[in-house]
Amino acid sequence: MHDDRSLVESRLKRVLDERIRPAVHPESVPLEVSIWTAPGEPVPVAEGLAAPRTPIAVGDLWGAPWGTSWLTVTGTVPDAWAGRTVEALIDLGFDANMPGFQCEGLVYRPDGTPVKGLNPRNQWVRIAAPAAGGEQVLLHVEAASNPVILDYHPFLPTELGDRETAGSEPQYRLERMDLAVFDETVWQLVMDLEVLGELMAELPADGARRWEVLRAVERALDAIDLQDVNGTAAEARAQLTGVLAAPAAPSAHRISAVGHAHIDSAWLWPLRETVRKVARTTANMTALLEDEPEFVYTMSQAQQYAWIKEHRPEVYARVKKAVADGRFVPAGGMWVESDTNMPSAEAMARQFVHGKRFFLEEFGVENQDVWLPDTFGFTGGLPQIIRHAGSRWLLTQKISWSQVNRFPHHTFLWEGIDGTRIFTHFPPVDTYNCSMKGSEIAHAARNFKDKGAARHSIAPTGWGDGGGGTTREMVAKAARLRDLEGSATVRWERPAAFFEKAEAEYAHPPVWVGELYLELHRATLTSQARTKQGNRRSENLLREAELWSATAALRCGLPYPHQELDRIWKTVLLHQFHDILPGSSIAWVHREAEATYAGLAAELEALIARAQRALAGDAAGGRELVFNAAPHARSSVPAGGAAAPTATVPGSGCTVAARCEGGFVLANGLLSVTVDADGLVTSVLDTANGREAVAPGTRANLLQLHPDFPNMWDAWDVDQFYRNTVTDLTGADEVAVVHASDEAVSVRVARSFGSSTAVQTLTLRAGERRLDIDTEVDWHETEKFLKAAFPLDLHTERYAAETQFGHLHRPTHTNTSWEAAKFEACNHRFVHLEEPDWGVALVTASTYGHDVTRTVRDTDGGTTTTVRFSLLRAPRFPDPRTDQGLHRFRHALVPGAGIADAVREGYRISLPERRVTGSAGAVPPLVEPDLDALVVSAVKLADDGSGDLVVRLYEAHGGRARGRLATSFPLAAAVPCDLLERPWEGTRGEVVADGDGVSLALRPFELVTLRLTPAAG
Ligand SMILES: [Zn+2]
Repeated sequence: MHDDRSLVESRLKRVLDERIRPAVHPESVPLEVSIWTAPGEPVPVAEGLAAPRTPIAVGDLWGAPWGTSWLTVTGTVPDAWAGRTVEALIDLGFDANMPGFQCEGLVYRPDGTPVKGLNPRNQWVRIAAPAAGGEQVLLHVEAASNPVILDYHPFLPTELGDRETAGSEPQYRLERMDLAVFDETVWQLVMDLEVLGELMAELPADGARRWEVLRAVERALDAIDLQDVNGTAAEARAQLTGVLAAPAAPSAHRISAVGHAHIDSAWLWPLRETVRKVARTTANMTALLEDEPEFVYTMSQAQQYAWIKEHRPEVYARVKKAVADGRFVPAGGMWVESDTNMPSAEAMARQFVHGKRFFLEEFGVENQDVWLPDTFGFTGGLPQIIRHAGSRWLLTQKISWSQVNRFPHHTFLWEGIDGTRIFTHFPPVDTYNCSMKGSEIAHAARNFKDKGAARHSIAPTGWGDGGGGTTREMVAKAARLRDLEGSATVRWERPAAFFEKAEAEYAHPPVWVGELYLELHRATLTSQARTKQGNRRSENLLREAELWSATAALRCGLPYPHQELDRIWKTVLLHQFHDILPGSSIAWVHREAEATYAGLAAELEALIARAQRALAGDAAGGRELVFNAAPHARSSVPAGGAAAPTATVPGSGCTVAARCEGGFVLANGLLSVTVDADGLVTSVLDTANGREAVAPGTRANLLQLHPDFPNMWDAWDVDQFYRNTVTDLTGADEVAVVHASDEAVSVRVARSFGSSTAVQTLTLRAGERRLDIDTEVDWHETEKFLKAAFPLDLHTERYAAETQFGHLHRPTHTNTSWEAAKFEACNHRFVHLEEPDWGVALVTASTYGHDVTRTVRDTDGGTTTTVRFSLLRAPRFPDPRTDQGLHRFRHALVPGAGIADAVREGYRISLPERRVTGSAGAVPPLVEPDLDALVVSAVKLADDGSGDLVVRLYEAHGGRARGRLATSFPLAAAVPCDLLERPWEGTRGEVVADGDGVSLALRPFELVTLRLTPAAG
């Protein structure tokens, strides 16, 4: 037979586009439209409905950037349409390719109840089926003229990302406002032909199935009268029933589809717009669930449910009912789909506490899946946190975005730093926005790396990022793919049903140990420094506020601020969303985040001051107390307690001497630090053992400036080639001693470069084997990357970087492509490098990105291992002025540090002491571990209001810890708990309580949460 395949395929495309799809709505009449534009931010629904309208016509422009317009559409169903299905078709000026990234609408009935959302892939509103002739139509549309930020030429700098700079130019033109007849038979024919056409394209050309489908399609096209598509669609469909009925092969890949709309809680739109995005999408999805009995929808992020509950109660009522019916499935168990690299241990834990608790309280459901399809990499600390939250499965597809290495599994056990293993699935469809296209389904089946051992994968199905969700077309296609020869099979399923099947069928899944590093978006560890500092500051202040409030509650009966802390935590958790904390949102989002963090800091400072005042007693008492919120004692102030300040250790005075060649030598008996005439550190000598930290021939604390213009994703990405060009900032405007006393000596170094300045203060304090480095940068660069380099005389294969509840090791070499791809990585408070007897810690109060490289010196053959902290970037998309202005950083170099020193100094730099004058002599800590390795992560009152004390601690050194947590109050009971403070059998170590403490034996990095009940009286 002659090969006419491409002829038939081209015919299918043209007839579908030009004749069959237009016949879905064969008749239409225009609607009358009028408009009112709100003067500023969105208004309440009642106000929008009541506002006076002016006429507007199709073709007219509307919508300044970020504006809200209320449209009223009216019309009459023609008598001739009686008995037929009638829909309103509303096109606000959509670009079909950008659902969620442009204007959107929410349709209301005259009484203000929401009907459904409007987006480029969802422009219809069902009026009646069957319609009565003469029926009056009256609808209102709350239309948001959100501007397009990510255009066809993406990543171009734009001023549209902030209402303050976006201007008032109308962004959209009304395209279509009609009442129309909906011909369901033609629509079904479109679905048949799309499914078969897309399947055909994926089938092998030498297989019979492809040709059987082709011939059936040809017969269907022959059956259509192009002048009467509506009259002949049924006959065309009849030609396709045979090929659509042929069942899938027994070995076919099995896809669990679940309706979904990934909705970024903020990104190319501000938080307030997400509130409305969620309402629009959710209104559509509850409506679709009513229309489609097989369909199942899932939505994550407790915060988004809380928004609907607060702002659109009618939509929330529909959600609650659908959840109760088991059709609308809360997914994951976190407050938001957060970043996981940067949140602190405690914050990561609270993401689960608040997420799970919301789902439990609102819906009575507790999920076991962790739903993070779009998060930029996953720390080695996360598996243990997932387990302690009572969850057991993780889903993400993001690792498929890695630039270099293909991850070897789609279904596997992921093992964290403590040995916890979590059953993990990467959907092989490689998207969280599956649209049931044949190419996607075929890709999932082909791509699935666990074939032969496993057969199931999941496909989150629906328009996402900016919302939209699943369409009726996707549901129709899924129905045809249920059991279709040549395709993977598709069933709508809850994520839990998928995970149960996937776990059951895979007895021995492969294991991946350590972090799930995303080989992309590495610059999200640095971009928008002020947002990151706001997060870190909030985390530290929350630790202090909880600790001192709990102490004051138990010691003085001060009421514990449960509600305030609950609200503040949720705000901090929201801002850890995977486009806010990573710095990848528009200027508006980061501007607001900085203001929000400032407000939280003020509130938390007030809570801390109130509790410390209660503990210290009357200020008129005149006795100074030093409060220590860190988990280790400091100058005889116990961890978690307060004591009178001690006098400086005698004989440990600091000195500073000028050098003849310029610069200074700072010394304190423990360290001798040489700063040269350029203000760079040429030597840091650990005097006790004569060991030099700075590699010979190098200079430390060197600021380095790189050009930084990635190939795309400006705020997200730094590409490897950035290192090819570097400017060392060695010129100094000033190198001067600014403080010299017995207690401390400081040298200030001022530099200018480009349009910016950097002032650094290097300080050595009495009795401390640590060089403190305070950096102030007035940053006015464009597309540059600023690093601070510390070339160390250390030979080591690997280094440690702190993460949640412990640290992980990364190689210092680039033997394989996997190591080479990790050229920028995340630390929390420290990185630590060591040879067997001696090491160095570099600690940081607020930066996350760093890199570590090694070279071998020509001079002496020794190894130089260079650690560089990432300070600032200056990408121009999506915020054209990212990071411009003043920034302050605090770092420290700790020579002679073991891992225990690194842990301790990391906390020290993050939690400065507070001095309060009062009448009390001391405040003993509520709890006190007797081992440095037992690190207290949180001290708080139980969330249930019982008055119990909750203490979370972990083994921080990576070894075994057998010790005791003493309580300074009589202890009635100590119960190991999960993160939600529920009694829990899962603790692996030993926990034995008696009347005044708890004996503990913890494994490396093991976490334990204890509920301590004080004895009555
Ligand atoms: Zn996202």
